[in-house]
Amino acid sequence: MAHRVESSNPGFSVSGTFPGGSIVVVDDSDPADVQLRLKNDPKGSWSGHYHFRMTGARGLPCKLRILNAAVLSPGYAAISAANPRTSTTGPWGDTGPRVSYDRQNWFRVRGELVGQDYIAEFVPEQDICFVAQWVPYSIDREYNFLSQVQKSRRVRAGSVGKTVMGAQIDYLRVADTGSGEGKNNCWIISRQHPSETMSGYFNEGLLKRLTDEHDPVVRQLLSKVNLHIIPNMNPDGSGEAFTRLNGGGADLNRSWQSANIESSPEVFHVQQKMREVGVDFFMDCHGDEEFRHVILAGPLPVPYGRDRHNALFADLRNAWAATSPDYDLSHPYIGGPPRENYRDLAWLWMSEEFDCLSVILEQPFKDTTWAEDEQHGWSAERADRLGYSFVNALNQIADSLR
Ligand SMILES: [Zn+2]
Repeated sequence: MAHRVESSNPGFSVSGTFPGGSIVVVDDSDPADVQLRLKNDPKGSWSGHYHFRMTGARGLPCKLRILNAAVLSPGYAAISAANPRTSTTGPWGDTGPRVSYDRQNWFRVRGELVGQDYIAEFVPEQDICFVAQWVPYSIDREYNFLSQVQKSRRVRAGSVGKTVMGAQIDYLRVADTGSGEGKNNCWIISRQHPSETMSGYFNEGLLKRLTDEHDPVVRQLLSKVNLHIIPNMNPDGSGEAFTRLNGGGADLNRSWQSANIESSPEVFHVQQKMREVGVDFFMDCHGDEEFRHVILAGPLPVPYGRDRHNALFADLRNAWAATSPDYDLSHPYIGGPPRENYRDLAWLWMSEEFDCLSVILEQPFKDTTWAEDEQHGWSAERADRLGYSFVNALNQIADSLR
């Protein structure tokens, strides 16, 4: 009997139809010319995120082609046009898809725009592999992690309200076991934009450290402040694997001035909790497809000019750079002066509403230029360590927040 099974291909296939997956498969009949399209968020204004699974791929030279990737979605193109960018290669250049065989370890393969299409070629070493714009951060991972974090006696976990689709908006209070009265209240929120998953790993690094009873810097920090953390502002968008929008089709980071219970309940409920608790420091964690540095933006020159905020911001930047070379002082934010509707953005709304130091953090999708890692690019592990290091920076300014 001939062993025909051994020589036959087990069946090559590509799909994004699984929780957290996102891709339109145009043609996966030939591994050497897999044709794909990006999925649009509701209303078609945003795309960019992708995450799919290949199987039967071991040893096959695979050529993945995202058709028309050079044509940026209208939302991205508008933001790109309104802001000067550091990148000359747009969101697709100088990087490539992240790939994993086990969904734990991710590496980067190079991609490039050829004409209108974005192309990545590699030979998988295993049959099953996952390919994504950046390392995914699933709701399952988030729930598993929060279930561990709650074991710390410093942590209380609750929900400020529900999303458009009815998911809980998780809220963590991290404080010394005392009442927390009289201490400054520091807020850190993440993932208004669901594809910017580096914020999920940043949160893990931050929270693992904040719950370490033996860490002297954390002890000192929590003697001065309480922390209030929204690990995921947009669980609907995360669950649906959207690029940018929430379950109601709103860009949450353009909703802070006009937050309402119908289309942006995520922001509305968080604002309510903030008014109840108070805010003395605010940070909003994002990822940027073009920057090749970790960037913080703080008080903008117009119409602010609040010397106290500017001085505190300088102290925060210096303190962070002193503790982590991944926060690099030579790359200030280049976003320009605030535009007309600047209060739509969380960090600018917060700055005025609570008269506090308010910053936005952008981690790169690509990599840093100061310490390039060809194998991984900016990685989940580096995002985790960045979250860990932020504790030192915050501790340095914790006495001066008010
Ligand atoms: Zn963002």
